[in-house]
Amino acid sequence: ETIGSNLEKTVSRFGDREALVAIHQSIRLTYNEFNKLVDDLALGLLNEGFTKGDRIGIWSPNRYEWAIVQYATAKIGVILVNINPAYRTFELEYVLDQSGCSAIFAMTSFKTSDYSLMINEVKERLPGLRRVFLFEDSSYSDLLVSGAKGDREQLRSILNQLDFDDPINIQYTSGTTGFPKGATLSHHNILNNGYFVGETCKYTEFDSVVIPVPYYHCFGMVMGNLACTSHGSKMIIPSFAFEPKAALSAVTTETATSLYGVPTMFIAELADPTFGDYDLSSLRTGIMAGSPCPVEVMKQVVSKMNMSQVTICYGMTETSPVSTQTKVDDEIEKRVGSVGRVLPHLEVKVVDSDGHCVERGVPGEFLTRGYSVMLGYWNDSKKTTEAIDPARWMHTGDLAIMDEDGFLNIVGRAKDMIIRGGENIYPREIEEFLYSHPDIMDVSVIGIPDPVYGEVVMAWITLKEGANLTQKDIHDYCEGKIAHYKVPKVIKFVSEFPMTVTGKVQKYVMRQQAIAELG
Ligand code: ATP
Ligand code: MG
Repeated sequence: ETIGSNLEKTVSRFGDREALVAIHQSIRLTYNEFNKLVDDLALGLLNEGFTKGDRIGIWSPNRYEWAIVQYATAKIGVILVNINPAYRTFELEYVLDQSGCSAIFAMTSFKTSDYSLMINEVKERLPGLRRVFLFEDSSYSDLLVSGAKGDREQLRSILNQLDFDDPINIQYTSGTTGFPKGATLSHHNILNNGYFVGETCKYTEFDSVVIPVPYYHCFGMVMGNLACTSHGSKMIIPSFAFEPKAALSAVTTETATSLYGVPTMFIAELADPTFGDYDLSSLRTGIMAGSPCPVEVMKQVVSKMNMSQVTICYGMTETSPVSTQTKVDDEIEKRVGSVGRVLPHLEVKVVDSDGHCVERGVPGEFLTRGYSVMLGYWNDSKKTTEAIDPARWMHTGDLAIMDEDGFLNIVGRAKDMIIRGGENIYPREIEEFLYSHPDIMDVSVIGIPDPVYGEVVMAWITLKEGANLTQKDIHDYCEGKIAHYKVPKVIKFVSEFPMTVTGKVQKYVMRQQAIAELG
């Protein structure tokens, strides 16, 4: 099966049911209507001479056209290149050039981002970029008009000739640890992964999923859209970019059954002053993923947001993305305190620096193998062979512990581990501990250089509204509860952390800033 043929199957079963709701655009589409727009756009692109293997970029915050482009390109085998809406001209030019895009879809502008202006700036240096389609003007709508007159039989025969191992998507990683890398993914990679994530959440045609996470990232386009369309469920987009009120209000007005977010999004929703105004009783499940999910936050999601079947996923863009997920019927302790077990048809192992499997309960690097592993980094065989070994194991760079029952815990990124005077410290552990302080809203821990110990612990902390804590208060709180070497030596109170658009904390930026400030 390919992404296009899978959508056709869903349309034939659930054509009259709603497929997509974009609340901020006042758009509601049934599967029939959605598929009609997808076909029109696919045919419009064919009329313009785009064919299988061509690369087309998409640069826009969440809107319903994003999903139309996703499925239209998939139906004709065009490789969609997701571009982070926070990029500026330097990064845009790099991505368009590196992936060899011959066209780009974009939103004209959003807040301080003038996408069309920035595209014009880089366009003259990119002779291969022959077309720009802006969602708000005729460059986009003309494609639909031309496609509507196209030959549906031609489209069907092209769809039937696609192979599920064909590359269909280049997704750049979040850029949490440095410059993003372009993971090349096939239909097989992402369709399967979306399907199994949907299976784990037990989606049916009666589910409706609020997707406040960005589409440019696999969380939105795979765990969101592909999980929904492979189950006949409804995709709900609340806003262009994440807004806690819009996400919560979408649950209420659409009586949604599922809500997604990275931990920082759930934290912001729970802390929103209007939180109590929303009726969340329709929620059943959802997914928290993308960075460590604090146990405290998970517990509140279950108790205050009615998400008794919430799941946690762990994965990375390079693995389509999900490797492990908690199940809705796993015992609650494991469900809030681990990233679950391996998804069907995938393998995982935890190894030491020599590549040997470690004992259960001992931390090591997380490796995974199976259908989910990307084809490779686009045009970068060197980075690909560094990440995927000859036996096809993907080396994630994440440290994990597997327990006796196969449940995994992510202790952090190998790069973020702090070594203080020979003692290994996992920032995660200190973050989890500090979350238990009632006045602390969010916390992020890094290692900073120290002449005596090599590295020492630094904590960045955001406080809840009205709270007031000093460095001494934090030290007193830690005293006697965690080992002395783990107590943060340096504490910085901030209003926010350096973050990616996906809401992930960029610890490398924190380290750079801390070093610059502390000398
Ligand atoms: P880059 O590779 O560009 O630095 P990134 O690794 O953040 O960015 P993604 O592919 O979006 O890009 O994120 C994957 C990473 O996110 C994983 O390798 C892991 O470190 C982290 N992660 C994802 N899910 C979880 C989770 N449930 N718990 C802990 N960490 C997670
Ligand atoms: Mg990564």
